[in-house]
Amino acid sequence: MKKRTYLIKTFGCQMNHSDSERVSHILEESGFVPFKDQGMEYLGKRQVVVDSTNSPLTRGARGVVEENPHRGAGRSAKNKEIDLIIFNTCSVRQKAEDKAIGVIQEMLKDYPMAKIGVTGCMVRQTGAKKEAKDPLLQHDFIDFVFRIEDCVKLPKILENIFAGFEASPCHYEDDSYFNIPPNVTNKFQVFVPIMQGCDKFCSYCIVPHTRGREISRPMEEVFAECQTLVKNGAKEITLLGQNVNSYRDKGEKCFAKLLRKIDELHSEGLSRLRFTAAHPQDFTDDVIDALAEMKTSCPYVHLPVQHGSNSLLQDMERNYTVEHYEEIIRKIREKIPGVTISTDIIVGFPGETEEQFQELLDFGRRVKFDFSFTAIYSPRKNTAAGEMTDKFIPEKIKKERFHKFDEVVKESAWANRERAIGKTLEVLVEKSVPLDDGLFRHSGRSREFFEVYFTSGRNLMGQEVPVKITNRQNYILNGELV
Ligand code: SF4
Repeated sequence: MKKRTYLIKTFGCQMNHSDSERVSHILEESGFVPFKDQGMEYLGKRQVVVDSTNSPLTRGARGVVEENPHRGAGRSAKNKEIDLIIFNTCSVRQKAEDKAIGVIQEMLKDYPMAKIGVTGCMVRQTGAKKEAKDPLLQHDFIDFVFRIEDCVKLPKILENIFAGFEASPCHYEDDSYFNIPPNVTNKFQVFVPIMQGCDKFCSYCIVPHTRGREISRPMEEVFAECQTLVKNGAKEITLLGQNVNSYRDKGEKCFAKLLRKIDELHSEGLSRLRFTAAHPQDFTDDVIDALAEMKTSCPYVHLPVQHGSNSLLQDMERNYTVEHYEEIIRKIREKIPGVTISTDIIVGFPGETEEQFQELLDFGRRVKFDFSFTAIYSPRKNTAAGEMTDKFIPEKIKKERFHKFDEVVKESAWANRERAIGKTLEVLVEKSVPLDDGLFRHSGRSREFFEVYFTSGRNLMGQEVPVKITNRQNYILNGELV
């Protein structure tokens, strides 16, 4: 009998991307196969991003895969049958939610027979129509929804959705969904969740309400997954969590210990260990020491600060000061020579005064970031900041502030990249595109997380190669293979 096909569309951050890889495994184990068109597989192997958070590890920011089957290649698939489309959603901003609903409706025009399932941050309660009260099910075109931690229940849900469908036995029914092996997109570059949820309740953020409170995976489980991935060819692992610094094993806060444990995999072929996201309140000295001493650590730290004014940080309920943040950066730079630093910033938070914004500009000039993932504040329902309607900043002012802060970051970011010219950086190739003349155009990231482009005569996808930097184009560095 012909197997049913599926496609997963993933919105948002790297955690969602990683979750989709586990959903893909469950679907294939149940008897579904990835939707293919003209030899192309769209998900599991081809993830799609139509929106992103301001994190550096979103697909867009990393430039890994940005193919949207709804445009270009996807149009060629019009009217082909897909049995099931799962939307893994993001609710970091209201706009992201609205966009997801729009994309579902749009896709249904191309695939009117597909059953539609929704998971991710927009879902509150698992179930299909009639049996669950999730508000998303008020949309006629959504057939079922599931909280991501319930993805082990998918086979049963699908049996109810598809008449006559009998799922193959699920091996993970009694397990945490973390134990489902991911169908990884790139074998050489993988993402491993170490925890789920967040206990911080920043006033603008919906995550603790959608993903719940922090739960860490046992260290031995994380290590075992990393070891398997390295055996299968992983050169770079990124550990994922909403606040990785508060990772715990057996009740003990021990992120540095976890880093050092995974560093042991260097002898088995692991080259780079990265992590996101970190929180300044929990960024302890033992983590900095580990990063300075490990073989697999990269001279790059992404430490979201969100603002440069203490009074605004208080309103955001971030629970640290600008001085504390700068002290962490000072220690990181002292112990890890040549380290690059990036951050997340929100401009135009409710009540942000001109004076507070000037404090942010001064702070940016002092810290000299290598990147900033700057977002214009957009209200999120059901958050404390979303209720401060009388303090909302006009759009025009928010945009002006965004551009002003961007100019400050560009100054340091571009100057720091100029210093890389003439140096040889190790680049992990994430894309190798064949050109008409038989050459390949490559792009990838250096250990410092600089985006580097170069050309050579063969496909280098997944390889870590030395590239001599010759020039800079805005944030991008160009170079030559050494
Ligand atoms: S630390 Fe704050 S911004 Fe980050 S996920 Fe938790 S509540 Fe949201």
